[in-house]
Amino acid sequence: MALMLSGIGVSRGVAIGPCQIFRRDEIEILEYAIPRSLLMDEVARFEAAILKAKQQLRQIRQQIPADTSAEITAFIDAHLLMVEDEVLSRAPINLIKRLQCNAEWALKSQRDALVTVFDVMDDPYLKTRCDDIDHVVNRIQRILLSHSDHMHEALLQQSRGSIIVSDQLSPADILQMYQRGVIAFITEDGATNSHTAILARSLGIPTVVGVHHACDYLMQSESLVVDGRYGIAIASPDNSELDFYQDCIEHDLARTNALKKLDGLPAVTLDGCGIRLMVNLELAEEIANVTQFDADGVGLLRTEMLFMNRSAPPDEEEQYQFYARLIRAFKGRPVTIRTLDIGADKQLSIDLLDGHSCANPALGLRAIRLCLKEPRLFLPQLRAILRASALGPIRMMVPMLSNMHEVQQLKQLVRMSKAVLREKGQSFDEAMPLGAMIEVPAAAISAAYFAQQFDFLSIGTNDLIQYTLATDRMDAEAGYLYDPLHPAVLRLISLTIEAGVRYGTPVSMCGEMAGDPRFTALLLGMGLREFSMHAVMLSEVKSVINRSDVALLSTQVEALLKLYESEAINTAVEALNVH
Ligand code: PEP
Ligand code: MG
Repeated sequence: MALMLSGIGVSRGVAIGPCQIFRRDEIEILEYAIPRSLLMDEVARFEAAILKAKQQLRQIRQQIPADTSAEITAFIDAHLLMVEDEVLSRAPINLIKRLQCNAEWALKSQRDALVTVFDVMDDPYLKTRCDDIDHVVNRIQRILLSHSDHMHEALLQQSRGSIIVSDQLSPADILQMYQRGVIAFITEDGATNSHTAILARSLGIPTVVGVHHACDYLMQSESLVVDGRYGIAIASPDNSELDFYQDCIEHDLARTNALKKLDGLPAVTLDGCGIRLMVNLELAEEIANVTQFDADGVGLLRTEMLFMNRSAPPDEEEQYQFYARLIRAFKGRPVTIRTLDIGADKQLSIDLLDGHSCANPALGLRAIRLCLKEPRLFLPQLRAILRASALGPIRMMVPMLSNMHEVQQLKQLVRMSKAVLREKGQSFDEAMPLGAMIEVPAAAISAAYFAQQFDFLSIGTNDLIQYTLATDRMDAEAGYLYDPLHPAVLRLISLTIEAGVRYGTPVSMCGEMAGDPRFTALLLGMGLREFSMHAVMLSEVKSVINRSDVALLSTQVEALLKLYESEAINTAVEALNVH
């Protein structure tokens, strides 16, 4: 009889194949004392394990085919950097000496200390780093404990065409298994934003994570269906289920081939309306890969990446060099640099608030609020962005603005920064466009003011939804309230786009909604003409655009915006998507 298990679909697509169980069981770490005379031997044992971990990762990296995208190799590079980082390669040595303990225990203690810091932060980016730390630490622990990887190797040999079911997988596991012809993954652990999930997505392999007790419920070699769209796995499917999913696979294949044909073509609607498609960037490692996509530029560079995992913020020169690299990589296409958005769910290891903690950080000193309070942090960034504007079309975008006072302060600081650069004889673009993110309901309701004050607006739906519906975007329990199609959210988006049209100010959208093809027709009908998203979503969104008629959509959407019932709105959005 068929058994259905559910989890979180993190990489779309359907696969059918035999189940291959791959347990990475917990490694038990014991503490024992090392006599003082043997401490240096213990240190040497640890250093040898670090060396071997590096060799293993380098070997995995070398086996990656040359035509693999840079984004994928970046995951292995990130783990290599982590093995080399002092916090994993040096700090445990100090612990071995100080606590006179075994290497495994020192490494475990260091791992626990790091993970505790990340856990408190409740940050999706850092949580991802937390998974990475575990993957790297487990690799070193297995070497220290001489856990052989033979079973692993033997299993990999037989995995072609199979579906791996595991308690947890590292990006390196995913990559090795992909190369051996694995067709889908199911894991007990995992979250949508883990690097493992992101890697599976960029490889295009159907993957479902968070399937509790999958290794216990599923049996070796039994037939499995994985549906990465809806996050389900079916064991021993019957014939009608098999027929249904076989059709899905064929349909997906035809669709992928059709999407490929759009590469290099402009995004233009049936009635001739040109749409700008831009990319969001949040990792430095993404740059090389993302420039290969035919995007019209960068619509959102999350500069937080430059400030994370370090003890002091980057200075003006370091930031300038990074922005300069980016503008060169995008060869004349516009790059939108968002000023620092730190606070709430995005914390730094640097304490910017002098230990001051806030009961509700999402409503506290975040983003522009923090930057205005800390000009020593903000001014070097403003100067670095301005200097980079001399090299190409840079736009500066500011997050979380909510009132006129902040706008005036911001403009004053930009003027000051320009004056400093002029005095130093450093060049910059005097007309560099300055934009505001509309992500606080107050800003959306005052969109007319913002549209008159700024050169462009960009709607940050991730925050706009959380603040409009008073639901924490990171909270799984309150997640059911997070609804992009809530009538209040749609009205605020529409209000912002209308204000842009009235005052001739271009309006873009860079929240997740912009890269979700289910909402493309709706947003076109609302008047949106610039979308910014993860690069992998570009062709799918383009394919909707190229089949749309904005004149028709705007009439349909006008009626949709009068609706209040969630079900009616969902049905109306679905109707827009039927071409
Ligand atoms: C947003 O809020 O929609 C956005 C793009 O910003 P972030 O997700 O970085 O907060
Ligand atoms: Mg935001």
